[in-house]
Amino acid sequence: MQRLRQRLAGSQGGFGRGLLSLISRERLDEDTWESIEDTLLTADVGVAPTQQVVDNLRTRLRVEGASRPDPRTVLQEELTTLVDPTMDRRLQITGTDGRPGVVLVVGVNGSGKTTTVGKIARILVAEDKRVVLGAADTFRAAAVDQLATWGERVGVEVVRGPENGDPASVAFEAVKSGVDTGADTVIVDTAGRLQNKAGLMDELGKVKRVIEKQAPVTEVLLVLDATTGQNGLIQARVFSEVVDVTGIVLTKLDGSAKGGIVVAVQRELGVPVKLVGLGEGPDDLAPFDARAFVDALLG
Ligand code: GDP
Repeated sequence: MQRLRQRLAGSQGGFGRGLLSLISRERLDEDTWESIEDTLLTADVGVAPTQQVVDNLRTRLRVEGASRPDPRTVLQEELTTLVDPTMDRRLQITGTDGRPGVVLVVGVNGSGKTTTVGKIARILVAEDKRVVLGAADTFRAAAVDQLATWGERVGVEVVRGPENGDPASVAFEAVKSGVDTGADTVIVDTAGRLQNKAGLMDELGKVKRVIEKQAPVTEVLLVLDATTGQNGLIQARVFSEVVDVTGIVLTKLDGSAKGGIVVAVQRELGVPVKLVGLGEGPDDLAPFDARAFVDALLG
């Protein structure tokens, strides 16, 4: 998580350091508490979690004199609780009965879906897993080409269909290839058109159904751009109503001082952030760890 610290530091220092300097003040007057609240809200932590953490900090830091607890330790503990270190963040990538596990990757266009699929494939290949990719975002030729490039780079097969073809048919073929070749995991990149919830529901529902005829969908990852704030939360809500999301990938955390979206989105969906995107490069994807994240925020 050294890299996370560097990347967050690159993005105006994240919000943790600002908080730390505020709560380390000699006198915590009402103006200071207001600034603390503003800092949390501006970082997209959300209203209810902000209230909770401010109340807890007030209680714990009320003590004055020699027995006053160390502000850094208190803040670290409160933020860690907020991010919830108890959530199971392991990726479910292994199928049952010798069949591959299928990872469905969903999210709006531009969130970093295709890049994330490529990066996950790279991690799995490095672990000697056999991987097949399905380019089911058939409406964007560029996305299919981009995934094909990732496939070449990582050395895995990419199943693609005709332009504007049926995404479910590409997903079917990709999983079929995974089953036939004894792959460990098939990762399916889906289309992210959000203009119509019913259409999205139909499309993702169909993709999931055809996959499940052959192998279990073990993970549905929702990719969210960390820089989109409240808008990202609205997207998350729509996707979670359409498909059972099992994990969140928060991309572009390197470009955002608003790491608080981790807290907000986990609360919103009740689903853990499992991976974070820290840049555009092939190695810029990391498993999410609550404690390491808070350490990185505090610098
Ligand atoms: P998709 O439309 O959801 O498939 O998104 P893409 O994978 O094409 O990504 C959109 C843009 O975001 C591309 O320029 C990516 O290089 C960039 N991107 C993806 N993930 C990250 C990340 O974690 N950090 C940064 N800085 N850029 C990213």
